[in-house]
Amino acid sequence: MDKIYDVIIIGAGPAGLTAGIYCGRYMLSTLILEKGAVGGQITLTSEIENYPGQLGGGAESGMTLTARMREQAESFGAVFEAAEIVKAELDGDIKKLTASNGKEYCAKAVIISGGAHFRPIGCENEDRFVGAGISYCATCDANFFTGLDVYVVGGGDSAVEEAMYLTKFARRVTIIHRRDSLRAAQRIQEKAFANDKISFLWNTVVESAEGEDVLDRLILKNTLTGERTEIKADPDDGMLGLFGFIGMLPDTDIYKEAGVALKGGYIDAGEDTHTSVPGVFAAGDIRTKLLRQVVTACADGAVAASEAEHYLNA
Ligand SMILES: Cc1cc2nc3c(=O)[nH]c(=O)nc-3n(C[C@H](O)[C@H](O)[C@H](O)COP(=O)(O)OP(=O)(O)OC[C@H]3O[C@@H](n4cnc5c(N)ncnc54)[C@H](O)[C@@H]3O)c2cc1C
Repeated sequence: MDKIYDVIIIGAGPAGLTAGIYCGRYMLSTLILEKGAVGGQITLTSEIENYPGQLGGGAESGMTLTARMREQAESFGAVFEAAEIVKAELDGDIKKLTASNGKEYCAKAVIISGGAHFRPIGCENEDRFVGAGISYCATCDANFFTGLDVYVVGGGDSAVEEAMYLTKFARRVTIIHRRDSLRAAQRIQEKAFANDKISFLWNTVVESAEGEDVLDRLILKNTLTGERTEIKADPDDGMLGLFGFIGMLPDTDIYKEAGVALKGGYIDAGEDTHTSVPGVFAAGDIRTKLLRQVVTACADGAVAASEAEHYLNA
């Protein structure tokens, strides 16, 4: 450890990158630490249609959008380093972070923007078809499945609500649930049962996703009998959709150990991005919030930087 930064940002997704741009503009010495690819989750998507300013047809990829965000943050003086933070000591005026290789970093304020990831469906070949038939976000991807048959895995509120949303685009939506009844709230269930575009496959799991370049077959397994069934895309469609809505997993263990209050696994922080620890702010998918999207992550990044600046200059 040789330098005390004004701000260290953990995670270089849209939230962390935007925080970096704003911290740089506030003339704060800023370090952004990233354990994987700069850009975060959105680098997995080839077209972001709903980020303001993207026009249909030519919508750009997550990779190119976040590459420009990085360039912009660097142009304002933010410094990037590849590191996975595994320990955080956040009490007191100087916060200490330790990386997996033992290197230590210090700052007067910390912005946590480590994101979250969707719980995988758990079927064979899942990774191969993400972005080519498999999705975890109806708000992001429903449009790509217009007129197709879509399958939804899950039985809770979000699975059923997202299935209903998908009926606006898809020809048919089938909810696949490993039990024989839904967990979703009664009023949500009633709406789904009344929707004639939705059908149900009970006591069923997706065993495998199949296809050449895109998803066109599913192998399903009955959890009671063990019987396997193959579902094929309509030959005219050439593709079907599979959405997993079985929860999100934020990586918050190290912050919990450091005394940061969590709620439902997420860092408990409101619109002001303040956590329970002074000088520590949470931005993007990792905090409690209603909508996890690029636009809301960027908004949080800007607020967190502004709040960090106020904290440092108080
Ligand atoms: C396939 C897919 C498609 C999507 N499509 C859209 C879309 O079309 N429109 C839209 O608005 N949203 C979309 N989303 C959602 C959007 O990507 C997220 O809401 C957004 O990326 C959240 O940004 P974030 O910065 O909070 O977190 P993330 O993007 O998750 O970034 C967090 C970063 O922190 C890093 N990190 C985590 N922990 C540590 C640590 N301990 N040390 C160092 N680094 C760490 C991670 O490696 C990651 O790079 C999509 C998501 C997925 C997965």
